Amino acid sequence: MQYEPIIGLEIHIQAKTKSKMFSRVSAEYWGKPPNSCVDPVSLGLPGALPVPNKKAIEHCIKLSLALGCEINQETKFDRKNYFYPDLPKGYQISQYDQPIGFEGELKLGLESDAKVIKITRVHMEEDTGKSIHMENETLLDFNKAGVPLIEVVTEPDFRNGIEIDIFAKQLRQIVRTLGVSDADMEKGQMRYELNISLRKIGEKELPNYKVEIKNIGSISVLQKVLDFEVNRQKEILVTGKAPVQETRGVRDMTGQTYSQRLKEEANDYRYFPEPDIPPFHFTDEYLEGLKNEIPELPMQRQKRYMGLGIAEDIAETIINDEIKLNYLEQVIEFTKNDKSLLERLPTVAKFIISKLSGLSEEDKFDYQISTLPAAVIIRIAELRDAGEINSNTINQILEASAATGKFSDLKSLNDYINQEGLKTNTDESQVNVVVEKVIAAEPDAKERFKKNPKVTMYFVGQAMKELRGKGDAKVLQELIEKRLQELQD
Ligand code: MN
Repeated sequence: MQYEPIIGLEIHIQAKTKSKMFSRVSAEYWGKPPNSCVDPVSLGLPGALPVPNKKAIEHCIKLSLALGCEINQETKFDRKNYFYPDLPKGYQISQYDQPIGFEGELKLGLESDAKVIKITRVHMEEDTGKSIHMENETLLDFNKAGVPLIEVVTEPDFRNGIEIDIFAKQLRQIVRTLGVSDADMEKGQMRYELNISLRKIGEKELPNYKVEIKNIGSISVLQKVLDFEVNRQKEILVTGKAPVQETRGVRDMTGQTYSQRLKEEANDYRYFPEPDIPPFHFTDEYLEGLKNEIPELPMQRQKRYMGLGIAEDIAETIINDEIKLNYLEQVIEFTKNDKSLLERLPTVAKFIISKLSGLSEEDKFDYQISTLPAAVIIRIAELRDAGEINSNTINQILEASAATGKFSDLKSLNDYINQEGLKTNTDESQVNVVVEKVIAAEPDAKERFKKNPKVTMYFVGQAMKELRGKGDAKVLQELIEKRLQELQD
């Protein structure tokens, strides 16, 4: 019997704010001593009153909008009651029936037929403290208690781990672009929960059970959890039974899960409106203002880059790297009104992720536009596209630029190329003489080429030496190949 997994995600994202969700104490707790970022509100002391964090709510609205959600203009907070040692109030302030955002979607790719994952809701809540289990005791750190959390819930639209992977990457890019969160999974700023069940392939109904797996801290563990649960549930289903509806935890990095508790229903939490915080009304103007603050999102950006002729893989690499992206943006800005310069962008984009990236790793280049202005990098691309300088020369120029910062304008670049005699030798008769010479130097050239046409590259190397590195590799390859072909006839 073949089964397919039906998977939904819940993602908790710590919103990036200075203070906590309902009080003024610092929310920037990472690396601070335990219980140093606490106050009466986050400790749940009697009589302490919550005051909502405007910035956090705006983050939640922006993320909702970026995910194409409707916004509940009338909204409120609710108490979700449960007892847990790291939840000192005995309830979490969350949102129940009026989440800030609802009914959105995220498309897994740029293609028109790319799969769409529906977003059920996006709501605002607060984080809990942290329990640290020692051998004979449990320690509690309330630094994290009350940190703003945005919860994104998807429909059970995922069918495999690859879709989850793409979704997770895109969501992380979006929250980072919005400035909503750094989404650093290692710091617990983005945490996943899965719900998963299996159904027979071909069936249309959702299964009548659902297993929830809490607190998954990395995507690689998530993938292992997925494999583990699919196998575990399949083994139960083939015996004719149904897996128990329950919440399971993850034991360790292996992704094995274990039963924690039978699944609560919503009414177990006795949700009711938070009496200490009045309901909200977001006006049209307010929402419009937030909408206008939303920058270009990563997928839109990638689409724009590809529209400028930049290859898909290069565009994808650049949108994921803020420094390279800023550099490319400055080059684009420079070429904006000049069509002939704009044509060089694909070459420049390639430089950015290959040559410049390599130099920057060796600390020989930083992407500050001042050391290599847009005008200069465009000119280098232009010379390369015209075959006037070759790859060796480009390396030499870029390294010289990084070392001395000397190419702050076009004139210094041109002077350097002329002085150093870096221009590719394009004198046809001279190049032809060299081609003849290197082939004639090897009497068995004809036979070697017949056996293995790749030998061409050997002769290109020889010719390049003759031309003191000033040859155009592409032109040489063409000429040599043509000549060796002629010898065959
Ligand atoms: Mn939650």
